[in-house]
Amino acid sequence: MSAVADFGLIGLAVMGQNLILNVADHGFTVVAYNRTTSKVDEFLANEAKGKSIVGAHSLEEMVSKLKTPRKVMLLVKAGKPVDYIINDLVPLLDKGDIIIDGGNSHFPDSNRRFDELSKKGILFVGSGVSGGEDGARFGPSLMPGGAAEAWPAIKPIFQAISAKSDGEPCCDWVGPAGSGHYVKMVHNGIEYGDMQMICETYDIMKRLGGLTDAEISEVFTKWNTGVLDSFLIEITRDILKKNDTDGTPLVEKILDSAGQKGTGKWTAINALDLGQPVTLIGEAVFARCLSALKSERTRASKILPGPKIPSGVVKDKQKFVDDLEQALYASKIISYAQGFMLIREAGKEYGWKLNNPAIALMWRGGCIIRSAFLGEITNAYRQNPDLENLLFHKFFTEAVTKAQSGWRKTVSIATEYGIPAPALSTALAFYDGYRSERLPANLLQAQRDYFGAHTFKVLPEFASATLPEGKDI
Ligand code: NAP
Repeated sequence: MSAVADFGLIGLAVMGQNLILNVADHGFTVVAYNRTTSKVDEFLANEAKGKSIVGAHSLEEMVSKLKTPRKVMLLVKAGKPVDYIINDLVPLLDKGDIIIDGGNSHFPDSNRRFDELSKKGILFVGSGVSGGEDGARFGPSLMPGGAAEAWPAIKPIFQAISAKSDGEPCCDWVGPAGSGHYVKMVHNGIEYGDMQMICETYDIMKRLGGLTDAEISEVFTKWNTGVLDSFLIEITRDILKKNDTDGTPLVEKILDSAGQKGTGKWTAINALDLGQPVTLIGEAVFARCLSALKSERTRASKILPGPKIPSGVVKDKQKFVDDLEQALYASKIISYAQGFMLIREAGKEYGWKLNNPAIALMWRGGCIIRSAFLGEITNAYRQNPDLENLLFHKFFTEAVTKAQSGWRKTVSIATEYGIPAPALSTALAFYDGYRSERLPANLLQAQRDYFGAHTFKVLPEFASATLPEGKDI
């Protein structure tokens, strides 16, 4: 069989099958392979029937069907399987061929694979893929990074199949080595934060405002037409409308204990490693951990007292809901500002030149955090790709200023009546810390010196004053 295929894809689980169909719909011929080869036959006989898709029962057969430079994408379980396949594939490839890992790989693995494969002349691309199965089928957000020489070869396929935002593809080159998977990791961390903030507003509306799920759904319907317009608000609106067969809201029957796969935790760990105050994602990860302590919380709820919530505590429900909207919007701005602070620092730490305006654009459509708001972030980074902080851009300075009063009222009332709002309140604490020229770290430095002889630096205006040397406190 001659080389007929433009693109090879390994891994015929949900993501792989849908992505192949998407690639084929855009006029490319794809060769499909899966370790369990019966899945290849099933796929060819069903979903792939009549499309420009051919099958392979071995890696050798797949490689023989690919035009050069060969472009092979892996959509398999992240971790060891990616290494096993790369090891088997490399001896079959020529220098200049391209291996793309589209799974949820941790970026240090992608850095390692990039280094190992560059030594062999193989171009490695680690690409974030977001949007779940629907995204894979009809337009994912794609975040490729790695060997820049691979980009011209894969760009026509990647940009054709990706989601579009105002006609622009939600896919561009991110940067070197594992930066594509790094940016996908931060995307997932931000997703944790967005979900947690939305859950907090639902809880506050329910427990303080006394709103029913149907009324909260109406609030989300309205929010989705304004500055909070986003996929996650949209699905929350729909979830809250869904009743069980007995006519009561289904969501109230779901166990309040959340799981996690680890990408939020990776982001929080990396933020600690790089010394960046990415507090909102950290709180979102910890909130899931706290939720998982269900039986402990149940015991605590019977022992540990909190304020009683008087009935009718919220007098003006419209004002209360408007304040909440502002709190969610301002906190979301903080979360994205923190996410981009982290990406900026990663660029410095790992020596990556990153495509900041494109990162926001890639998240604008196709992925779980897609929102109108990301259009504004794209504009901000297009105006200034080296923007020090999103909060310094006029649009966001004004937005956060306007939202401040409602944000403070929301955090105050939640605190006063004992409703946990870790994401909304950490965002406000970060904002107040970030805008404080003077923080109490002077005292902290003195404490460190007192017990550990760490010495301390003085403020510039006291540089020439005679002060006790460090270790003298
Ligand atoms: P998955 O359940 O993560 O993985 C199943 C696939 O991996 C199957 O094709 C399986 O082959 C293959 N595989 C597992 N171990 C293997 C090994 N040792 N050698 C060769 N192949 C092996 O599939 P998925 O849900 O479609 O996800 C694919 C990747 O995309 C993952 O990294 C996932 O994290 C990422 N992702 C998923 C989503 C989503 O919504 N599902 C969204 C974005 C990204 P067999 O059939 O032979 O077992």
